Amino acid sequence: MPELITLDPAGDPAAYTDALVKYAAGEVPGFIIPGTVSFTSAVLVRFLRKLKIPYEDIWYRHMYDPGLVTRWMERRELPYLEYQVADGCNMRCSACSHYSQLVDGPGLLDLKETEKGFRLLRGFFDNICLIRVMGGEPLLNPELHKYLRMTHEIFPQAVLEVVSNGILITSMSEELTETMKELDVTLYMSYYPAMKGKDREIDDFLTRKGIGHKISEMAEEFFKVTDLKGGLDPAAEFFSCSWRFCNMLRDTKIAACAYPFLAHYFNDYYGKELPESGEVDLEEEGLTREEILRRLDTPIEFCAFCRQPGVPVPWTRASGKDVPLEDIAIVQ
Ligand code: SF4
Ligand code: SF4
Repeated sequence: MPELITLDPAGDPAAYTDALVKYAAGEVPGFIIPGTVSFTSAVLVRFLRKLKIPYEDIWYRHMYDPGLVTRWMERRELPYLEYQVADGCNMRCSACSHYSQLVDGPGLLDLKETEKGFRLLRGFFDNICLIRVMGGEPLLNPELHKYLRMTHEIFPQAVLEVVSNGILITSMSEELTETMKELDVTLYMSYYPAMKGKDREIDDFLTRKGIGHKISEMAEEFFKVTDLKGGLDPAAEFFSCSWRFCNMLRDTKIAACAYPFLAHYFNDYYGKELPESGEVDLEEEGLTREEILRRLDTPIEFCAFCRQPGVPVPWTRASGKDVPLEDIAIVQ
């Protein structure tokens, strides 16, 4: 039996040509995609699917156990997962795609419910390659260190990152900096114009504390994706969307992206009715790992209202309590 060909998710697609030609000629039965610390493996699978390669011919090498190869849709590892510990944010970017600018106060999540969700998820998956703790602004949650310990205890081989806007980094508690150092958690700072010139101080602070960190390029532009008219083709938007790989856990539920969990902020604020469906209840009777993977790979209702890759707008901060609808949504 001919051997499967391994494709490097970080490779240049041009380098796949030889493998694809062999596959088309029937010389190889399929491909192995190795897990990576990001969702590049999922992006590569999307590329193969675009070429109409069936899932049966796509295999996955698990990052936590490179000897373990299963079919892609039977894998025991998620490439990426994010969860929020605070829905509110102290930056309040006008076009925040997570609707944090509409949240009143820090909007803290419940540690026990999040832990319950993680334990349920562990019943289905052995590992998650990369787990990102997001917001809102995660540093607003004084229990962040407990969340990190809990996550590490349940998924010890997962790489952990905290994503912050940077405002509170230099006032992080000793408890938090020690935990991050001990668990080797990376701090990823999204760099916005409001923080211009503070990057050096933040970099020095995190270096002094022994915390691995990355500071993004300055983001001068945001993308509005919420399209109030709706009527988009959910399958087409879902297929072209990169955020569909940003699977989110909230309490005891998981979804392909954040919108099933966050659309209610938009609806409550503007009196609209964007879909709030699409999450998978991890407590559902009879739920299997394969079924979770299948549903995370299926368009959700919100996709019909989500124009990818969006309309670019200059980065600004929301001022005051009222956020004009046109700042956050595509209204025409
Ligand atoms: S810093 Fe991030 S979470 Fe906060 S408002 Fe801006 S984009 Fe949203
Ligand atoms: S709603 Fe659909 S198109 Fe929008 S981010 Fe989520 S998966 Fe992507």
